[in-house]
Amino acid sequence: MSGNPMITLALSKGRIFDDTVPLLEAAGIPVDPSELESRKLILPTGDPLLRLVIVRASDVPTYVQYGAADIGVAGKDVLLEHGGEGLYQPIDLNIARCRLSVAAPSGFDYAQAVRRGARLRIATKYVESARRHFAAKGVHVDLIKLYGSMELAPLVGLADAIVDLVSTGSTLRANDLVEVEKIMPISARLIVNQASLKTKAARLQPLLAAIAAAVRKD
Ligand code: ATP
Ligand code: MG
Repeated sequence: MSGNPMITLALSKGRIFDDTVPLLEAAGIPVDPSELESRKLILPTGDPLLRLVIVRASDVPTYVQYGAADIGVAGKDVLLEHGGEGLYQPIDLNIARCRLSVAAPSGFDYAQAVRRGARLRIATKYVESARRHFAAKGVHVDLIKLYGSMELAPLVGLADAIVDLVSTGSTLRANDLVEVEKIMPISARLIVNQASLKTKAARLQPLLAAIAAAVRKD
């Protein structure tokens, strides 16, 4: 293919979209956020050769992996669960920052349970990351996969503790949960389809450079 191919960027609604729009604008690519209200799933940008596709956060790596999107914005949490096949992960965008943590009801002595070698029931959406974390600590766990509202699980006896994303901690506090262990910091990454990186290099390289230059360092 010659010259000027269209580039497709996959991202999710909500905080990823809200944090990516200013980054694209800083990179010289205006996006009209009201386009989202149209409920269209393919949105134009101020650059006629860059379009956005709106997908579920956990589907972003899949679109990029198969080349349906050339690039995508996905949280490190999502990438750790997905695995990295077919993806090139060049830029930490330093947006949608939070951390992956273990949280437990305030009345549950997590540290003591770990010292005793108790087997823990852990509810989480992040089973791969949780499995790795507890294996590295030598803690035996039964992992219960959930798709949302992890905070509820310990309150109704489904689990002893949860592994979830935490930013301010207000959701935990509202449910009488305490962050008992930080697993890792999380931020969104720009991922790139490996084939696109070769076939659309002339167009992608400057775009990636502009986005990298717009990343806030702090
Ligand atoms: P869905 O709402 O479609 O089930 P989701 O809950 O993963 O998917 P979001 O809540 O928008 O969608 O989260 C998208 C990404 O934003 C997450 O993968 C994570 O990287 C990041 N994120 C999630 N929670 C927070 C938070 N509290 N603070 C900052 N970033 C967060
Ligand atoms: Mg959510």
